[in-house]
Amino acid sequence: DITLKNISKHFGHFHALDSIDLQIQSGELIALLGPSGSGKTTLLRIIAGLEFADAGAVYFGGEDVAATPLRKRQIGFVFQHYALFKHMTVGDNVSFGLRIRKGEVRPDKVAIRRRADELLDLVQLSGLGDRYPHQLSGGQRQRVALARALAIEPKVLLLDEPFGALDAKVRKELRQWLRELHQQTGVTTLFVTHDQEEALELADRVVIMNGGRIAQVGSVDEVYEQPASPKVFDFLGSTN
Ligand code: ATP
Repeated sequence: DITLKNISKHFGHFHALDSIDLQIQSGELIALLGPSGSGKTTLLRIIAGLEFADAGAVYFGGEDVAATPLRKRQIGFVFQHYALFKHMTVGDNVSFGLRIRKGEVRPDKVAIRRRADELLDLVQLSGLGDRYPHQLSGGQRQRVALARALAIEPKVLLLDEPFGALDAKVRKELRQWLRELHQQTGVTTLFVTHDQEEALELADRVVIMNGGRIAQVGSVDEVYEQPASPKVFDFLGSTN
């Protein structure tokens, strides 16, 4: 499980995050919702250890993330405009993290290739390992990004508007597909979205942020049936 304890972050005088407490169970799929600037991306970056909190700590199963070396954290990311390496094939993109890790010992090319093929099967891109990113559609590229994030067998998957740049039809397909993928892998997943329908359809629990604080945490039903404040009510009623 993941525990966020009293996380605060300032940028100059600006409070981007203010005393965030949150407990996430292993295997949960959590949607982070909230207006622009409410601190969602900053929170993901802190969970990943890419940014340091001014106060508080993030624990993965009792271990302080900040004290764990980057390559041992086993965190997978996908961002909205996730840049795949353009000059590398899809297969090489997917196995990049594996090659780096194996590079410490002795790279086993055959095993790495096999694992990349398995991952491409998992994201339903079998047989496309030799293509280059520009030969794929936007939705396919995001699935490659997800395969790459899963390659390192992450303990947690952090998705920051992974489908934000795609059109409505593709988003819908990927949403469905992400749910199936989550059922298969059981990886604890946090995803930021602006799309309430996406949150409704996918999330076990929803975290609503506002002004650097958590305005409400609950199941989709709880949050929609009993908004904790007029602000949450207004936010959920808005089409952003
Ligand atoms: P969006 O939905 O627009 O992506 P968000 O909820 O993800 O927004 P953050 O990106 O976490 O919000 O930003 C929270 C606030 O912190 C914003 O007001 C942003 O301008 C500010 N901020 C974020 N990173 C920095 C930085 N490196 N320096 C200064 N201010 C920052």
